[in-house]
Amino acid sequence: MDIKSLIRNIPDFPKPGIVFRDITTLLSHPEGLRYTIDTLTQKSIEANFRPDYVVGMESRGFLFGVPLAYQLNAGFIPVRKPGKLPAAVHTIEYDLEYGSDKLEIHQDALSSHHRVLIVDDLMATGGTARATAQLLDKIGCEVLGFAFIIELKELGGRQRLPDLPIITLVEY
Ligand code: IMP
Repeated sequence: MDIKSLIRNIPDFPKPGIVFRDITTLLSHPEGLRYTIDTLTQKSIEANFRPDYVVGMESRGFLFGVPLAYQLNAGFIPVRKPGKLPAAVHTIEYDLEYGSDKLEIHQDALSSHHRVLIVDDLMATGGTARATAQLLDKIGCEVLGFAFIIELKELGGRQRLPDLPIITLVEY
């Protein structure tokens, strides 16, 4: 199946000059959704990922992380924007093109002996995924690798991530 044909391209969103890769059209396509989750699962098994938990980043990482966790018989743990998680959190601050942002995870969600797979819809600069890996380093758990639906190759995100296996389904 051609997943790319199900991803909609929105020019000049959220800023002029940026082509936004919109996965809502992939999610709404019954066969496309099934194929995406099945392929993500297959590639995770081929990469020998056997996570205890899938960690997904707010908010589109939730959409793919939960079904992948279900398929891999793993649990799911959300990484969220500041102030959203109700219990005690670990926080990481990371640089954006202009300014900085923060991500949080529940302190009691994971222990150091857990194996974790990081999932998001898209890797651009890799900053979000790198910050998530650093957040997990604070806990001391083992990051097995990363899975993304989309990789924007020209932004060189892979170079910002730790040297671990990376699964992607579609490249631009
Ligand atoms: P990075 O931190 O630069 O790798 O950006 C990745 C994050 O930005 C992910 O959480 C994505 O959901 C989001 N993102 C950036 N560009 C796009 C896009 O074109 N479509 C959907 N999400 C995007």
